[in-house]
Amino acid sequence: MLPTPTTKPRFDDIFMDLATNLARRSHCIKAQVGAVLTRDTRIISIGYNGPPAGTHNCDEEFPEVGCPRDSKGSCSLALHAEQNAILYAAKNGSEVEGATIYVTLSPCIACARIIYSMKIARVVYLNSYAEYKGIASDEGVDFLRRFGVTVERYVPIQHHEHTGT
Ligand SMILES: [Zn+2]
Ligand SMILES: [Zn+2]
Repeated sequence: MLPTPTTKPRFDDIFMDLATNLARRSHCIKAQVGAVLTRDTRIISIGYNGPPAGTHNCDEEFPEVGCPRDSKGSCSLALHAEQNAILYAAKNGSEVEGATIYVTLSPCIACARIIYSMKIARVVYLNSYAEYKGIASDEGVDFLRRFGVTVERYVPIQHHEHTGT
């Protein structure tokens, strides 16, 4: 696509905005993550991290101590945003192969395995899971790239000033 002198949002901007808004719906206490699954610039599913529907609401049930944690410090009850988005699409028979998924946090290794297995073609993420966890490498991103999935860190649209400097 040719660059055009416009400030119209790209689809990447629109879908990442939506993922960011969805993250705010999460009932988990520590991390709030949103995901939008799209194909051919159409939304096929959305998700945010949290326990399966009808089970727990972490913030209401554990307001003082927080949700039970796994060995990596993540909520042990929650499905991740990517998992919720992909499961919903699969449950409803949507074609996920070749899709793009937008997530506000780069996928963990468990989600990366699912994304790869579902043949999702492209992952766009906002924040780095490795930076968030204070670990050396984004193992989910590394895994996806090694096996041919396109992974990009989201860069907000640039407003060019043309000041000549
Ligand atoms: Zn939780
Ligand atoms: Zn995950």
